[in-house]
Amino acid sequence: MKLTFLGTGAAEGVPAVFCGCETCREVRRRGESAFRTRAQLLIDGEVCIDFPPDAYYHSLRFGVDLSAIRYLLVTHSHMDHFYAHDFILRGYKYASPIKTKLQIFGNGEVKKVFDECTRREMREAVSSLIEVTVVPPFEPFRFGDYVATALKAQHGNAEEAYVYLIEREGKSYLHLTDSGRLPVETLDWLEAWAKHVKRVDFVTFDCTFLFYTAGEISRHMGLGDNKAMQDEFIRRGIVDGRTQYAITHFSHNGAPLKERLESVEADYGYIASYDGLSLSF
Ligand SMILES: [Zn+2]
Ligand SMILES: [Zn+2]
Ligand SMILES: [Zn+2]
Repeated sequence: MKLTFLGTGAAEGVPAVFCGCETCREVRRRGESAFRTRAQLLIDGEVCIDFPPDAYYHSLRFGVDLSAIRYLLVTHSHMDHFYAHDFILRGYKYASPIKTKLQIFGNGEVKKVFDECTRREMREAVSSLIEVTVVPPFEPFRFGDYVATALKAQHGNAEEAYVYLIEREGKSYLHLTDSGRLPVETLDWLEAWAKHVKRVDFVTFDCTFLFYTAGEISRHMGLGDNKAMQDEFIRRGIVDGRTQYAITHFSHNGAPLKERLESVEADYGYIASYDGLSLSF
């Protein structure tokens, strides 16, 4: 699988939309290479996890052909993960030629947000090539060469946010944003899955808080929480010594500047993602 981290910032971005803090001022001074835009991950050029307001900018900056994305997995309906307004532009006089269907998967709230945001401007010619499917947690579903499973995140009570396990040709990827430490139900499911299938090859952790450890009940994680999750994964046989890890979804409050992340790789063995990072496993 090939992963491309298109956006590695938290909801407000780094620099944050309206912020003038020291970190945001420094990032503005450094320019585009230091920017962290809203969360989006591209897998093998045809699968995306999340579609933020910055998806269009990602297509410009990194040469991503958004029309080639056939499958979109949405973690939850928060604005930094699902900017549904753009989908009215996928066809009609706004895009040609669009011949392939886009399949969007998510929870019930994602479906509602899609309907609300596209209600005024959606045309039949466009909507006929977009399908939104509500997927229940813990039930694997197939698309193309992939099998994905939505797992319950810990991300507040307003909706049931998901994290995803994605499998393709014997490889597996676990995407853990936005979430605090995972609920026991999800850990149990992963443990049973790993017993029957195999360990996870690659894990990406939510690391919104970076050097601050949030503890048991938070909706996001920091490095200390990532390490606690990793230890729990090892204890349950969900990962092994060959599993690779990355961290993402950084808040400006954690001052996620390049030089501050250099020690992370050495201390934790985690890849500190940045906008545009591509890797294969
Ligand atoms: Zn987020
Ligand atoms: Zn700031
Ligand atoms: Zn969120």
